[in-house]
Amino acid sequence: MKARIAGIKKHSLVNGPGVRMTIFFQGCIHHCNGCQNPDTWSADGGVIYDTDDIIRMIKDDRYIDGITLSGGDPLLQPDAAAAIAQASKQLDLSVWCYTGWSYEEIKQDPDLYNKCSRLFRYVDVLVDGRFLQEKKSSDCIYRGSINQRLIDIRKTEKEKCIYEISI
Ligand code: SF4
Repeated sequence: MKARIAGIKKHSLVNGPGVRMTIFFQGCIHHCNGCQNPDTWSADGGVIYDTDDIIRMIKDDRYIDGITLSGGDPLLQPDAAAAIAQASKQLDLSVWCYTGWSYEEIKQDPDLYNKCSRLFRYVDVLVDGRFLQEKKSSDCIYRGSINQRLIDIRKTEKEKCIYEISI
């Protein structure tokens, strides 16, 4: 499966706990004021990868504790994100996923939610919500602004109630 990718950071320490391979998906429609990655906004930018090649990179890396799907917004390419997330869970790796949508917004959009529901089966933590400059804080680890949440997405989906994790 093809995916449009802005970049891959093999060993990141800032996109979730431990050493994580972070895959930055190309394309974002949220256009947050103060976004640190505006180069990822264009749906035409980045480089086309085959998800099998990304999965091979993950399998061959002995140093990572997990992977993080970031962007851009990975939810704009949910099938490719799900393929990478599923393979990573099969390797017993932790999977985090960032999105500019809030979980409530995703749930309120049946088309978006249906497209993302397979991905959510393989994600441990969903970091949700736009970056809001006025809510920027260095206190919230792994996030840029305090409105963004670290959601235990599988428990949230199962219990139908939002469960945030605390770190
Ligand atoms: S959702 Fe993320 S990548 Fe997209 S504009 Fe906001 S901060 Fe930037």
